[in-house]
Amino acid sequence: MKKVFKRGVMTLSVACVSLILMGTTAVEAKGPLTTEVKTQAVQKTSLTEERINTVLKEAYEKFKDNQEGKNADYIKALAIVDSKMFGITLVTPDGKVYEIGDTKEVVSIQSISKVFTAAKVMQEKGDKFIQEKIGVNATGLPFNSIIAIELHGGSASNPFVNAGAIQSTSWVEAKDSKERWDKIYGNMDDFAGTKLGFNEEVYHSEVNDNKNNQAISKILDARGRMGSDPLEATTVYTKQCSVNVSAHDLGMMAATFANDGVNPKTGKKVLDKKYVPKILAIMATAGLYDNAGDWLYLTGSPAKSGVGGGILAVVPGKLGIGVVSPPLDKFGNSVRGQQAAAYIIDQLGINPLAQ
Ligand code: GLU
Repeated sequence: MKKVFKRGVMTLSVACVSLILMGTTAVEAKGPLTTEVKTQAVQKTSLTEERINTVLKEAYEKFKDNQEGKNADYIKALAIVDSKMFGITLVTPDGKVYEIGDTKEVVSIQSISKVFTAAKVMQEKGDKFIQEKIGVNATGLPFNSIIAIELHGGSASNPFVNAGAIQSTSWVEAKDSKERWDKIYGNMDDFAGTKLGFNEEVYHSEVNDNKNNQAISKILDARGRMGSDPLEATTVYTKQCSVNVSAHDLGMMAATFANDGVNPKTGKKVLDKKYVPKILAIMATAGLYDNAGDWLYLTGSPAKSGVGGGILAVVPGKLGIGVVSPPLDKFGNSVRGQQAAAYIIDQLGINPLAQ
């Protein structure tokens, strides 16, 4: 086993050039995780309640004892979260909920929040704005890379790396920081269909140690890409990462996308239907950090993970999947989260690219 990704400074070989970048979390990696779930020939199955319940239970039993991976520790409060926590929630577009395990336990949403803030900016300013001002391409570099900005002409590349996410936060229309935060928080509540909690401990742990993100925001500001004061946007971004979510919340948020932008529980339209495929496309491109390609290859499904251990996956028109399990692989993705979601998509025969 090889230690692949370490907090602090690491060397990464990109096109035969060695670059010094900030890394994320130390993980004992075991090779590509995603090959552990063998994709079977996709069978067209009808999503009966019985079948969903069977596959959900199988996924839980199959992966619950897997202790691979390690909690993120570059944000100190994440290292002490119970790494045994494991919950899976499935929500169909008509609002039926299927769940198993620790589905009410919460973790901080972290990077998954980037999806909702980008959706908010898209709703306010349109999809062209996101494409032109932030970008919709993969960086090929770690989510917190500073050098990626320079390599791509001063652009963040997409809203799901830290640079693009801080930009999204800055572009939410607001007269001040409080209004920006209230809108971002309220928007996540709307996707979840409930009032989400806030993790003070995670926030204080990160806000005192987010100099890399501050530097990113300053560079983007120098390139004329920020919509508000860079440090103010970084603070609001850090807040949005500290919102608590459970597998249940993530399942409902995913189902809102699966249901064309309408929350299946509250019936509230949170995002215009025309923008849903745009957000899902960015999730497919850059949702699972540097493993997004392998994930899409395996599941055909847009997904987004966060270093808190949450993951959501969307099967448009069919299912929203939310999983919480804090131990991460070398890319920063929940090990059991990926395994469970991939297994469920495979066994239900709902890979969107195979329909
Ligand atoms: N708040 C985290 C950061 O900015 C989010 C990281 C993530 O989940 O990818 O580093």
